[in-house]
Amino acid sequence: MFSWRVRGLFWALTVFEAEDGMMPSTPKHLVWFRSDLRTADQMALRSAAAGREGVVGLYVLSPADWLRHDMAPARVEFLLRSLECLSQDLRAFNIPLLVRTAADWRDVPGVVLGVMREVGCEDLHVNREYEIHEAQRDEQTGSLVRAAGLRMSSYHDQTILPPGEVLTQTGGPYTVFSPFKRAWFAVLLNQGGLRVAGLPARQPENPLASDPIPTAIAGFASAVPAELWPGGEAEATRRLTAFVARGISRYKADRDRADLEGTSTLSPYLAIGAISPRTCLRAALDANGGQLDRGGVGEVHWISELVWREFYKHILVAFPRVCKGRAFKPESERLRWAENPAHLAAWQAGMTGFPIVDAAMRALSATGWMHNRLRMITAMFLTKDLFLDWRLGERHFMLNLVDGDLAQNNGGWQWSASTGTDAAPYFRIFNPASQSRKCDPEGRFIKRWVPELRDLDGEDIHDPAEWPALFRPRLDYPELIVDHAASRARVLAAFKALA
Ligand code: FAD
Repeated sequence: MFSWRVRGLFWALTVFEAEDGMMPSTPKHLVWFRSDLRTADQMALRSAAAGREGVVGLYVLSPADWLRHDMAPARVEFLLRSLECLSQDLRAFNIPLLVRTAADWRDVPGVVLGVMREVGCEDLHVNREYEIHEAQRDEQTGSLVRAAGLRMSSYHDQTILPPGEVLTQTGGPYTVFSPFKRAWFAVLLNQGGLRVAGLPARQPENPLASDPIPTAIAGFASAVPAELWPGGEAEATRRLTAFVARGISRYKADRDRADLEGTSTLSPYLAIGAISPRTCLRAALDANGGQLDRGGVGEVHWISELVWREFYKHILVAFPRVCKGRAFKPESERLRWAENPAHLAAWQAGMTGFPIVDAAMRALSATGWMHNRLRMITAMFLTKDLFLDWRLGERHFMLNLVDGDLAQNNGGWQWSASTGTDAAPYFRIFNPASQSRKCDPEGRFIKRWVPELRDLDGEDIHDPAEWPALFRPRLDYPELIVDHAASRARVLAAFKALA
């Protein structure tokens, strides 16, 4: 590796070799990529590139932090594929992508400063990450960089409206989705509507070579097929375009059906930043004649889901306790959740005897992804039917999801456990069999993932309590591990006791 002085000399020597009229010089700007792995509508990148003063990209691999944050191996593999695409995409702008490894998050600021010195950059650009550790890491990086006489600029990029900009009349954060959404629409319109930035400016020739992207990281091997989740911005754009062309108008009708491909499957791409939420909203608005909350029911509903994503990010910033494993509703910390490792293991393995729950959990292990309705059903089942702590489920999801995202995962889990932002009271308890009938009427999804049940008639598959006793022994499938009615009574009593 060059020292930064030697590299400076290298830049000076190569400055005279430019051929296309854009003179190479020491690049002034370093863009540190994190959860924003794209070139289009990328605030930090666009700002760094604006003056055409030379840009270098950096990604810091931090496997110790990934382990600490329960990052799924499938998500790590998806990250590496996406980094490879990013590195190739950046070439068109003469921006090399460097890759470094940090021992853990405390080590990261020093690694970043080291790269600035190595390549001679004076300005560091980052898009904000809002989780507690990430925010601390960025603060420390800023201090270190400034102490070295260099600069750091940070941008709001992860959400359409920055956290803290959608507030109640008394200036506080919203804690319920519907009023948040109304206020969110009003703020967006007040600030002149949606702005989506384009691609960054092309930079002067840059002789610095990109680093190779590792194809695997020790300790993070998954069985999820790479073909399910191709990395990169081009794939994200392809999914968005396909969804808007064929799916968005039917979204309201199809979105709750586990047996249809009725949703965009963009969540891994949004989580990693391979596409911006603004680009997604732009596409939906274009499909809906520019309207946010009227027009096509599918389009309007999909826009609403993008706002759910915003809501949970805003909640995470306004209530940092949710980053620390604490309940959003503090009084729910008094619940004495059951302790039953056998039940937890059955849920994780898809062996609870509840067909829709088992199918969903097996699909999660095999594909790294789960349909939203199924996330709600399985989360509700763990917390209400098994009465197990939502944190156990939240962790298992993070360890398996290719789209694992603290704000969305925590928001979804706490909503399902009735410890979160749900405006409905604790007696929102799903009945697995009736949910199953609605989301998989002919049992096609169940039969795909629970082949033991493939000989059952579609309509009969949902409720094992209704299966004839004589028929049972012929199935190599677990008995129900709990009785839904009894579990329901138990959880209602536990929540009632809190009041
Ligand atoms: P679409 O239906 O096409 O929606 C478009 C986008 O809107 C999604 O990609 C997502 O970014 C956002 N969105 C949609 N539904 C929700 C929602 N209910 N809450 C917040 N944002 C939403 N989403 C994650 O991205 N990462 C997670 O780790 C995650 N964990 C969850 C855990 C639980 C228990 C629950 C109930 C939900 C969780 N979700 C999570 C939200 C939601 O299930 C997924 O975003 C959605 O299933 C992704 O599919 P899609 O991209 O096809 O979504």
